Order: sequence, then C-alpha cells, then structure tokens
Amino acid sequence: TRTHLPRWLAAADLQQEIYHHLAAYVPRILCVGPSGGSSREEQREELACQLLLLAPLEWLLLGAEPAAGLAALQENNTPSPLCGHVFKVGEPTYSCRECAADPTCVLCMQCFLGSVHKEHRYRMTTSGGGGFCDCGDAEAWKKGPYCHKHTPTSSSRDSEEDPVALLPADMVSRSSSIFSVLLRYAVAMLTWEQEDQLPAGLEPPDRGDSYYCMLFNDEVHTYEQVIYTLQKAVNCSQKEAVSFATTVDRDGRKSVRYGDFQFCDQAKSVIVRNTSRQSKPLRVHVMHSSVVAHQCFALKALSWLGQIIQYSDGLRRILCQVGLQKEEGEYSSLVDKLMLNDSKMWKGARNIYHQLLMNSLLMDLKYKKIFAIQFAKNYRRLQTDFMEDDHERVVSVTSLSVQLFTVPTMARMLMVEEDLMTTIIRTFVDHLRHRDLQGRFQFDRYTAQQAFKFGRVQSLIGDLKYVLISRPSEWSDQLRVKFLEGLDAFLELLKCMQGMDPVVRQVGQHIEMEPEWEAAFTMQMKLTHIISMIQEWCSSDERVLIEAYRKCLSALSVCHSGLPDGEQPISLSLAGHCVETFRYQVSQDKVSIHLPVCRLLAGLHVLLSRTDVANRFPEQLPLGELSPPLLIELPLRCLVLCAQVHAGMWRRNGFSLINQIYYYHNVKCRVEMFDKDIIMLQAGASMMDPNHFLMIVLSRFELFHIFSSADCRKRYSEANKDVIQQNNTLIEEMLHLIIMVVGERYVSGVGQVEAFDEVRREIIHQLSIRPMAHSELVKALPENGNKETGLERVIDTVASFKSPGVTGRGLYELRPEWNRHFNLYFHHYSRADQSKAEEAQRKLRRQNGENTGKHTPVPLPPPPPPPLCPLFGSLVNLLQCDVLLAVEGAVLQWAVEPSGGGWTESMLQRVLHLVGVALLEEQQQLENSSGDDDVTFNYTCKITRPGEAPSTSGSVLALLESLQNAPHLEVHKDMITWILKLVANIKTMRERTPSTSSITVCQGQRPEETVRDKDKAERKRKAEMARLRREKIMAQMSEMQKHFINENKELFQQSLEELEASTSAAADSRLISHAGFTADGRPSAERRQLVTCILCQEEQEVRGHGRAMVLAAFVQRSTVLSKNRRRNLPDPEHHDPVFMHPDLSLGIYTASCGHIMHATCWQRYFEAVQLKEQRRQQRLRGHTSYDVENGEFLCPLCECLSNTVIPLLPHTHSPHHRYTHTHTHTHTLPSPQPAVPEGFRVDFTPPNPFSSSVSEMITTFSMATYKVGLKLNPNETDPRVPVLSWSTCAFTIQSIERLLMDEEKPLFGSLPCRQVRVCFSLQVYSVMSYGSVHSLDQSGRRAVDSAHLHLLHLVTVAHLVQILLTSTTEEVCMDHDGGESEEEELTCQLYNTLRKHLGSVLPEVTSGWQLFRCVKAGVLPFLRAAALFFHYLNSTAPPADLLVSGPGQWEALLSFLSLPSNLLQLYHGQHTLLEWCCHPGVRQTLQGGGVLVKFPRESNRLIELPEDYSVLINQASSFTCPRSGGDKSRAPTLCLVCGCMLCSQSYCCQTELDGEDVGACTAHTSTCGAGLGLFLRVRESQVLFVAGKTKGCFYPPPYLDDYGETDQGLKRGNPLHLCAERYRKIQRLWRQHGIAEVIGHAQEANQTLVAIDWQHL
Ligand SMILES: [Zn+2]
Ligand SMILES: [Zn+2]
Ligand SMILES: [Zn+2]
Ligand SMILES: [Zn+2]
Ligand SMILES: [Zn+2]
Ligand SMILES: [Zn+2]
Ligand SMILES: [Zn+2]
Repeated sequence: TRTHLPRWLAAADLQQEIYHHLAAYVPRILCVGPSGGSSREEQREELACQLLLLAPLEWLLLGAEPAAGLAALQENNTPSPLCGHVFKVGEPTYSCRECAADPTCVLCMQCFLGSVHKEHRYRMTTSGGGGFCDCGDAEAWKKGPYCHKHTPTSSSRDSEEDPVALLPADMVSRSSSIFSVLLRYAVAMLTWEQEDQLPAGLEPPDRGDSYYCMLFNDEVHTYEQVIYTLQKAVNCSQKEAVSFATTVDRDGRKSVRYGDFQFCDQAKSVIVRNTSRQSKPLRVHVMHSSVVAHQCFALKALSWLGQIIQYSDGLRRILCQVGLQKEEGEYSSLVDKLMLNDSKMWKGARNIYHQLLMNSLLMDLKYKKIFAIQFAKNYRRLQTDFMEDDHERVVSVTSLSVQLFTVPTMARMLMVEEDLMTTIIRTFVDHLRHRDLQGRFQFDRYTAQQAFKFGRVQSLIGDLKYVLISRPSEWSDQLRVKFLEGLDAFLELLKCMQGMDPVVRQVGQHIEMEPEWEAAFTMQMKLTHIISMIQEWCSSDERVLIEAYRKCLSALSVCHSGLPDGEQPISLSLAGHCVETFRYQVSQDKVSIHLPVCRLLAGLHVLLSRTDVANRFPEQLPLGELSPPLLIELPLRCLVLCAQVHAGMWRRNGFSLINQIYYYHNVKCRVEMFDKDIIMLQAGASMMDPNHFLMIVLSRFELFHIFSSADCRKRYSEANKDVIQQNNTLIEEMLHLIIMVVGERYVSGVGQVEAFDEVRREIIHQLSIRPMAHSELVKALPENGNKETGLERVIDTVASFKSPGVTGRGLYELRPEWNRHFNLYFHHYSRADQSKAEEAQRKLRRQNGENTGKHTPVPLPPPPPPPLCPLFGSLVNLLQCDVLLAVEGAVLQWAVEPSGGGWTESMLQRVLHLVGVALLEEQQQLENSSGDDDVTFNYTCKITRPGEAPSTSGSVLALLESLQNAPHLEVHKDMITWILKLVANIKTMRERTPSTSSITVCQGQRPEETVRDKDKAERKRKAEMARLRREKIMAQMSEMQKHFINENKELFQQSLEELEASTSAAADSRLISHAGFTADGRPSAERRQLVTCILCQEEQEVRGHGRAMVLAAFVQRSTVLSKNRRRNLPDPEHHDPVFMHPDLSLGIYTASCGHIMHATCWQRYFEAVQLKEQRRQQRLRGHTSYDVENGEFLCPLCECLSNTVIPLLPHTHSPHHRYTHTHTHTHTLPSPQPAVPEGFRVDFTPPNPFSSSVSEMITTFSMATYKVGLKLNPNETDPRVPVLSWSTCAFTIQSIERLLMDEEKPLFGSLPCRQVRVCFSLQVYSVMSYGSVHSLDQSGRRAVDSAHLHLLHLVTVAHLVQILLTSTTEEVCMDHDGGESEEEELTCQLYNTLRKHLGSVLPEVTSGWQLFRCVKAGVLPFLRAAALFFHYLNSTAPPADLLVSGPGQWEALLSFLSLPSNLLQLYHGQHTLLEWCCHPGVRQTLQGGGVLVKFPRESNRLIELPEDYSVLINQASSFTCPRSGGDKSRAPTLCLVCGCMLCSQSYCCQTELDGEDVGACTAHTSTCGAGLGLFLRVRESQVLFVAGKTKGCFYPPPYLDDYGETDQGLKRGNPLHLCAERYRKIQRLWRQHGIAEVIGHAQEANQTLVAIDWQHL
C-alpha cells in the first residue's frame, strides 16, 4: 500500500493521482454482485476498503504508520470542552428545567451524571436520533455548563486560539489537500445524477455490462406494497423481500437485482408497472455498478473524515475550512453543494453527511458561525426543497436549524445580519398560497397533498420559535430595527389570519358539509408561543414596545377598515345614557373566531400598563387614535358567538363550530385567544363611558330591547318559549361576561399581581374541583415556550401532597386556608368544571361549619379582588354605572315572583355575585383610603336610589331586602344575607370616619333555626336522591339478568365464608357432624355441605350421588416455579406426566374464582355462550375477550376468565385401600410428589361412587387439564388423562405452599376462600378418583390413614435422599457446641451410606449438624404441601401451631402427618432406596450431567430492575436487533421473567409459531412462560402482559415520578424511579398465576384491547 506514497507525495496534481487510484480499485472492491448482503462479504469489503483505499490516505496524511500517527495526533490534541456526543435513536437525554437556556439543550447520560443538574429539577426524554450533547456549551446553560469530564482545565485550549497553529506545517498543507480531494470526490459522487456515467477521471479501466436495479424509499408506499411488488418483480422469497424493504426504509435505497442492463431494466419496469396504479410509482434506477461502487465509497470516505477529525481539533478546523472554502460556479462551497442537493439524496447518504456536519462544523465555534450564515442565506431554498421532498424532517438538512438557531448569540447575529426572522416568516407565508378575496388564508378544500405540505410548513414555526426562545437582555439599534422588520412580516402573517374561516349562522336546514376548521386552529396553536414570545421581546425594551404597539395598531386599523360597512349609525339609549353604534348582529352576519391582530394588540396594551410605559411616555403613544368601540367590536362578537352557541342558536352549524369554540377556550389556545379577548374588553371598557360600553354589549348580545323597554322591570314576556329560554341563557352569559370583565384581574398589568399569583390562582381553582395529580394540573395550565407552567414554584404554597398507595397516583389537595379565594365565576372553568366546583365547595363549607360547630355561611361570595393597575383603573366604574344598576334592578324585580320561565336562578346568582363584587370593591377602597373623600366608589349609595324612569319601582337595596325572606329563594338566602350584612358594614365604615379596622362580614351568627331547617331540607333532598338512585340501579340490575346478585349477594357471601370456616377449622351449625375421631384422638367431622348455585339460586347438598355441583375454573400451563428455563417444553405426544421433573419447568395450574353452579345450569349457560359466539361470528362484529372455541367462558357472576369446571365432591372419610407396593427405576430423581401407583393401569372396576352427572363433570375437568396441559386434542382413551388431574393437583398445591411461604403467611387459615375451595375440590377429587380404582375400606380415621401413611413414608424418605444427594456441601465451619443429637447422627449415617453406594461423587461431610440443617430446610416445603394435601383430603383440623406463622412448625407438621419426631428413623424401613441410588443415571446427574435442583427450591423472582429508569433506557438504546445485523430495535422489550431483551413489534424479528407469523414477544412467551409473558416495553414505560397469541393488556409500570405518577409513553419526562412496592405487586400477581385473569378483566373493561394484534408484538 505504501507504494503510492512517493508518487502521491510528489504529485503535482494530487486529485488526479488519487482519482486514478480510486477509479481502479473502488469498482473492484465495492462491486460485489448480486447478494452483497452476507456478513462475510461485508467483512471482506470492509477490510479491502481499509487496506487498499483508506490506509494509503492515512499514511499520506499522517506521514507515519496510521495507528501510531493517530495516537500521536490525539496526544497532542487539546480538545475543546464541547462533548458533542451524537445521540442514537432511543438514547436517553437530559435537560435541566432550572438551568437549560431552552428545552432543546440536552446532556448525554454520562455528562448528566457528572453534572450539577443531577440535583436539580430535570427532564428526561429519549432522543429521536440526531442532535448532540450540549455539555460544554456555555450558552446552553445558565449554570453548570460543564460536567466533570468536560470542565476546562489549565491545559485546555483557549477558545479563541487557532488549533491549526498547533499542528506541524507540513501536516497542515497535506491534510488540507487530502481533505479537499476527498471531500470534493464525495460531494461529486453523492450529488451525481447520471446512472451510467462517472465524473471525469473516475471512469473504470474495464467497464463491464454489470448493473444494479436500485430501489429508492418513499413515504407513499406501505411496507406491504413494497414487499408484494418485490416478490413479483425480482422473484424473491417473502423473507428476502422483507429484508429488502427494511433496508430501503432504513438506508433510503437498496439494490434488488444485479446483472446486465436488460435484466435489471426488466425488474424496473415490473416494479414501476405494479406500483403506478394507486399512486406515483416507486422510484427505481438501473445504475451502472461502478457508479454504485463509487457512491458507496464516497460514504465511507465521509465517515472516515469524520473519524479522523475526532483525533485533532486542528484537523477538524482544516476540514471546516475546506468545506466552506469559497468556490467558483453554481455553489459557493462544497458544503453548500451538499445542502442544496440534500432533498435529492437518499436517506443513507444524508444521514452520513449530516453526521459529518455535526462532527465538524457544529463542533468548531468559529466555523459554526460561518456555517450558520450560509445556512441562513440558503434558508428559503432549503425549505422550499424540503416542501417538495417527501422524507421526514429528521433526515432533512433543515433539521439542523435547531443546532444553529437555539444558540442565542447566533440567532441574534443571524437576525441582524441575515434578516433571519423576516426570512422565516416570509417563507412561511409564501408557502401558504391559498387565500380568499380579502387575502386571508383559506384552507377549505385542501387536497391531501396540500394538507401534507401544510404539515411541513409548520416546521418553519418551530424554527421561528428557536430564534425567539430567549429574549435579549440587551438591545442594539440594529437588533431593534431587524426585530421590528420581523414584526412587520409577522403582522402581515397575522393579517392573513385575522377573520379566517368566518361562519354564518345556519337557519332552517342543517349545514350539508362540515367546514374545514382544523388547519386554522393548528396554525393558531403552533403560533401561540410565538405570539407570546414576541410580546416578551417587546416587554424587554421600551422603544421596541412603543414601536410595536404603533405597528400593531395600524395593522388593526387596516383590518377594521371594512367594519362599519358604510351603514347608518344607530343610536341606543338606556337609563338616561345614549350611545351611537352601527347595526350588526352575530346571529345574522359573518363572524370569525380568528382575531390574532386584535389579540396581539391586547397583549401589547397590557405590557404598556405592566412596564408603566403608558404612564411615562404617553406622548409617544398613539392612545388618542384608539377608538374603544372599534377595539372591542370583534372580540365582543366572538364572545357573543360563544354565548349564542351555548344558548343553542347555532345548532344547525354542526360540530366544526362546537370544536372551534372548544379550542378557543382550551388551555392550548386560550392564552392568545379567549384570555386576550377578555383583556381587550377590559381595555376598551376602561377607556369608555361604562354605560356606553354596557349598552354596546347589550346590543351585541341582542338583548338591548329587553332592558330598554319601558316596562323592563316587569317580567318580560315573549310568546315563544324557545326564545325565552334562549334569551335567558344569553342574559346569563352576558352577566357572566360582565363579571369576568370587571373581576378577572390576575394578569400582571391588568391587576397589580405577579405571574406567580396568576399561576397560583389557576391551581387554587383546579384543586377546588377536586384533588388532582401533578400531571392533571400540568395539563390544566398553559405551557410557555419552554414547556414550563410555573406549577412547581407555586404548588407547595397552596396544596398538600398525598402520596399514592400501591395503585393510583399521588394527589395534591388544596389547603383549607385557600378556599376563600374560590371564585365560582373563574373565567377558565368550563360549565362542567363550574358545577363540579360549586358542589365540592358547598359541601366542604357545610362540613367545616358542622365540624367547628360554628355556622359559617354556605354562600360562595366573590373573593376580594386585587387592585387594578392605573391604566385599567376605571374598569371598576362598570360596577356602579347606571346601566348595570338598571340591569340588576330588572333581574331582582323579576325574581320577586317565582320563576315561570321569565328568569332563572343562574341569572339571579350572577346578579348577586356582581353586587357582591361591587360591595367588596367599595369596602376595600374604604379600608385603603385615608379619608372618606378620595373614595370615588359609592355603590352603597347608588343602590339606595329608586329605579329611574322609565322603571320606577324600588331601589336595588330595597329589592334585596324584600327578596331576603322570599320563600321561593331559599337557596339564595345565604348570599342575600351576606350582601346585606356587607352593606351594613360599609355603612358603619362610612359613618366611622377614617376607618380604623376592617370589619369582615362573615362572622355574623345567623338564627339557629334557619340553619336547622336548611339541614333538614338538605337531608330530605339527599334521601330522596338516594332513593331515586337506588331505584335506578335496581331497574338496571333486573335488566341485566344478574338480578340475583343484589338480592342474594349477602347470602352468597355468607355461604362462602361458611365453607371456608368449615374447611379450615371451626365447626359450624350448618354442618351436621357425625361422631368420628382421628387416630390421635382429635375429632373429625363428617359434614353435609350446603351450597347455592349462582345461576338458579337453589340450595344444594354436595353429594357424590346427587346433582353435580361445579366450580368455574381456569387451567393454565405455568413456568412460574421453573428452575430451568432453558429446558425445552416437553413433547406433548410422549410426555409422561406421572413424574414431575424436580426443576418444575412446566406445571399445570388450576385456579377458580370459587363460584358454584349446578353442572346442568353451567352447561346451559355455556351453550348459550357458544350460541352467542356463533351469532357474533356470523355478524362479524365486536370481539370477545375469551376464546369460546377453546372452552373459555366468563364466570357468570364475577366475569373471571374460566376454561373448565371442577366438580364439587363431598368430604369423605379417608379411603383405606390395599397397598400395592410400587417402585420404579427412573431416569430422573424420584419426585417429591406422591408417586402414582401402577394401579391406574390395573384392570379393575370398582363400584362407582358417583352419579353419572358427577362422573361426567370429572371427565370434563380431566379433559380440560389434558387439553391445556399437553396442548393436545381431547382423547378420552389416553391413559394419561386421569394422571394429569393428579399432576395439576400436585403443582397447584406446591404453588400455594410456596406463595404462603414467600408471603410469610401461616400454612392454614390464611388462604382466601376461593383457593381453599379449589384445593379442597382438587384433593378430594384426585384422591377419590384414585380411590375409585382401588377398593374402599372404611376403617382408619386419622389425618393420614395407614395406607396413605405408608406411601407418605416412602415418598418422604425418597425425598430425604434426594435432598442429601443434592444439598450444598461446602462446609461452613460453625462451632456447634454440645454433642450431636440423635437426628444428626442418623443423618450422618444415612449420608455415609449413600456415599458408600455412590462413591466419590459425594464429598465428605463430617458435621451431622450441618447436614441435618440442610435436610430440615429441604424437606419442609414437602411436609407443608403434604399437610395441605391431607388436610383438604380428610378435613382434619390443623394444629394451632400451623394456624399462625412462626416457630413450632416443624414439630406440628410431623405430628399432624403422623411422622416420627425423628424423621430420619423412617429410613430404616426403606432400604430399597439405596438400590435406586445405584442407578447410573443418578451418578451421572450428580457428576454434572444436568441442572441440579437443590432443595428447598427457592421461589423465582422477576428480574431485578434498576432504581433509575434512565438506566433501562440507556440499556435499551444500545440494544440492537438480533436479526438485522446491528440495527437499532424500534421497540426494545424486556422480559421480566428471564431478563431477555427482545426486538418487539417489528417485521425483522417475526418468527413462525404453529404456522403463523408472530412477533418476538409472543414467540418468547411460548418458551419462557409456556404461553404467558410479562414484559416491560422500555420506550413506552409500559408493562405488557400477553397470554397466548390473541390476548394481552397493558399494565402500569412499576416506575413512578416524584409526584407518584407513572409516565406511560414517556411523554412528560419527569425522572422515574422504581417503586419496589408496585413491582412486588406485579411479582405477586405472577406468582399467584393471576396474569391471565388480569388480562381477561382488562379486555372485558376495554374492548379496544381485544382488537389489538397481540401476536405481532
Ligand atoms: Zn455529553
Ligand atoms: Zn460533559
Ligand atoms: Zn441545573
Ligand atoms: Zn343451578
Ligand atoms: Zn366467579
Ligand atoms: Zn423470558
Ligand atoms: Zn428485530
């Protein structure tokens, strides 16, 4: 390889030399022919590339052996402190919510862990790929910009110093020319568009007829379409086609055929033909192989450059220089050429050069600036290219904007020098070409393609947001100029939006087509933050603010130019006041909800007030030009529209209008919509005569005629009931609007409050509805551009946190002292919120009144309003103006008589609220004034005036006094009393000159009586409500076929408890006991069991010969106890279930909800279920959560998933039988379970103790265990059928024993009754069936009868031997004082005997104590299981020691089981065991021939999870798909049982299972969990349960944030930590075999879960 060097070094034209070399080698190395995919070939290619192509370049560059040269380079490098780690897809990123300049500033995990932000409030997200770590960028962080690793040291380079100066001069020149040649080459190749030719100098020496048929990615065709087409076109298998499609999707292109031109062209035409029918065809090129080869190498060259510059900042800068060097011709530099051809390149090429840009230009501060300027210069064209392109934005060069524009100094520089703000806005406007006649945007009749483009255009708003996200702390004159220019452009944009999508009320017919509304709202929503940011910029500079205000105003006057429409003004007069306005009716004319220009002006107007600019520079402001009636006109129309919609006047306009109104108020939009409209009304009202303002409001609400008529104080009468109702609602809405206009002062600038108060008030009102979780509060508050709500700063001042339990989430509760700030007419309440809050508050206050014994008033008076800012100061006059008093007077007058529809309670309530606000205002003014004189507000005086002509009845005060005792206004009495009290107080205050102390109203005691009456009425009302509710429920119940639940639930519950009691301990009156004693003298009872069928409610005795009773049961395969997950599941055809392998790798578990039915009732029920399913299938509608074809059904009472029934059998006296001695030589160790005698196969027919119906049910159950356990079709003749019921009995008992042990519960008395019942039935059943093949003998009566005892002895000894053979034999040298006990000696003896037989396989053990300890521990689970078994078999009362957990168990067990107190004595009778031990299999196993199971078997746990969730994310981000060679997995999923990471929900990892393609989870589940799986989907932070192929559900993950909430989908990004309690809960669920049931219930509750294709996960 070095042979070229001298020539290259000497070459006059290095490019020519290198090109020559590449022309010769590249096609040979990278032209690999047809497959090109095998990893072998890839390696060969890689190696050849490195050796023949790259190494020579490295030699040339370094002038030394590459490895050494690079090491030296790195050593001499002084790196910049930037981390620059480029994020992989799915990698965790961290942002500090306290210190990050904006949310796009992120850290990689390493940097984060080494930073100060670890201790701050941070946000964690997963990267979508691209972007890099901002550690070390001082501008990105307000504090702590460096982590430990990247903290600059004394030796690090000054950022101003040129790193190139540190390199040797010859290297500088060499690298410069090499980089130049190589970059030029790569750029030329990547932007090369000819398919058959190469650039000059690269033509191959021998050009053959070899071509590739290259398929390109597009976002139009689906995976399935591509796969299908490929199979047809290039004749490949489905699997190959999938692989092609995957690569095309990932890399953007893939050759699908290799051969001569014709061969490839043929494939091309098939593909084009096949895909051109539905849409534009797939892009296919037939390319000469040498072109493809050079393009491949170009990518490698770029990657190589990216790697080399990592070694040296100097080289990096040289590469930057080369890339941005000015060029002659079409493109000003190489980088320019790349950028401007971006949209033409395939995905893979883009990714690689973007990566290089990030590694080079973006890492060098000097060149980052130069690049940013180039980027800004090209901005418009790049965006235009992007609009035409159909690739996602992440693979577009435009997505680099975030790296450039979010650096504040850079953004400002680009704004000043490159007009960036204006450019972005203009580009945006230009791309939305559809306008109406007035020049407004028009989205109606958007085609799909235009809609797609509209989606793309929105990314421009994102760029604008980056530019504006941090407002300047200092302004230069230039910046002012450019910002205001940008504002001009922005106002042009807003003008195009002002009045968009106008609506006209539809009368007569319903609208035919819902008009388009979403596009306009999307735009508004996206612009919300921009509008807010522009206001923030304005607020930071007085000159800018003044100028912006002027500009906005003049823009608005343009919009207003058409307003009066040249109509004759009309004149309105009311209460002695007169105003001129023009004719306009919302209900008849056009109205639009989009008024961004007005709203921006409203925002700026508030800023004038907040910054006090209005006060200081009034002469500079065009306030005189303002026409308040014009200012309020459009917002008022909009609010009237909402009111009319509420009043039902716009019903015929359809949902699109409803949706618009919804979003107008929604938290995502309201800040720059509804809120600003209210502010504009406030601004207008404060500049107008309040009477005029109100008259205009009345007129726009179309209510003026009601209040202006001469007899308005008489109940107004309209003939039409609908009109009356409509008008009532409108009056309510109008009053509400007035309340908001005078009362909403929590905006800094309107009222004298801070942002803090505003947020606090929002929170108080949210929490007044009910306690809420953190995330709910966050959702209810508007986010700013930094995604912050300010919640955290405030929340702890007003609320207390209640942490969650094992379920649910943490909640914030409002502290009681904040209740008095509650305002029923809070402007952000929806109607539903309002009524919920009202109810909650009334209840709370009533309770408080009762608790303290004091009678605090129940009314909900308005809270004291904060003072207004001077600019809005005259707003208060609204409260005492004549028109409002007239309105109040009218409503109060109406209320004198009971409502007959002429007025409403809400109306009255609102008027009372307004009166209250006015009084509070007056009280406050009095309190704060120094003397009576400066109080201009005198409401108390005005309300004593009688109504003026024409309505001449009583004064407002007089009316209130008369209403106080009106019987029909009982509900409002408290409020009226409160008001009158306040009036009295104020009078006292006024009389007492300069008020000394404030008097609060709320302390007055009211007569006991009224309170009591009230309570009584309330109680009565409640009782009535309760009765109605009960009746309703009853009616529903009876409909639901389940009427018996209600009636019999108690009874039913009772019988359950009784059964439990009977089976565990105490005697029961319902059980008729016959005399009988166990061998050791304890009485045992022969009982009659009475049970009730849940279906027919009949009581029935359980008898062998009676009608069969059955339990709904669910049989499932289980690997929960498995000690060997690697063992393959047994082959069903040949599996022998008699012996359970000690590793318990597969068991059959039986569970039941414990609900009892007649067998016949159940059969009828199940037939009905089947019939229903058939009908459903015919109709192909809906889904079921259970698989009827496989015998599944839901328990008719509790809807628990079941797949069979267990017959209930009577308790029996213990069967005593002839003992047939059995022993077998086995290939495995003897099982600890009772060995099944060969008697099963004995030709023997005993008298059947059961009726035919019971026998039938026994068969049903056996067949179910057979079918589920072996996964075979039922075959009644298979001799294994009865054995399987034994097997499930044994396994179920063992599981239960383990569970009790793990949860440290006593062996008896702690089982939930349903489990007791299952155990009981299983035991009885299995023994009965066992007994049934032997003759029954009626003699013995003990816990364990003699025959059983013999078996028990045998098995126990076998198990002892098993334990001794497998026990851990590392001796712990513990001093054990005292001599050896008898047991220990015997243990030693036995062990030594075993050693004699087995020889050296067993190590020598001397300590009998140690051995005996092992034995005791090892045999305990078996004894416990045996005790359970015999207890349920014979229902012998257990000894007291076993009813509690703790010591004494051992002795109690031995005596209960009639075993000798020295267990080892048993061994004496069982010498045959030694023969078993001599079996060669035993020796082989012990010598390491298999997995040794040690006793006691430790219970399995779910895998350990890390405390910090981001550890998991990190782990998953480095996980690659095991099938597609190092690709990132899209949905990495962790098996919680074995810890396996899987590539789920993806084509690449589908496998075939029983002839069907299934995803990785389902495939894994079939082996790891025998069909049942528990997973954690890492990217989603979600637990997934799957059962079989068709069932599954999601479950909350055991990770919680600091607010006690899970984050499913990882949307919020709060740090998540493991909640051990919740994880234990999942583990318990798993151990209890409860997963299938959880899935069943989840699917029943949520039908959409049934439709999910779980098998594809
Ligand atoms: Zn980093
Ligand atoms: Zn760092
Ligand atoms: Zn921080
Ligand atoms: Zn029944
Ligand atoms: Zn049930
Ligand atoms: Zn697993
Ligand atoms: Zn995969």
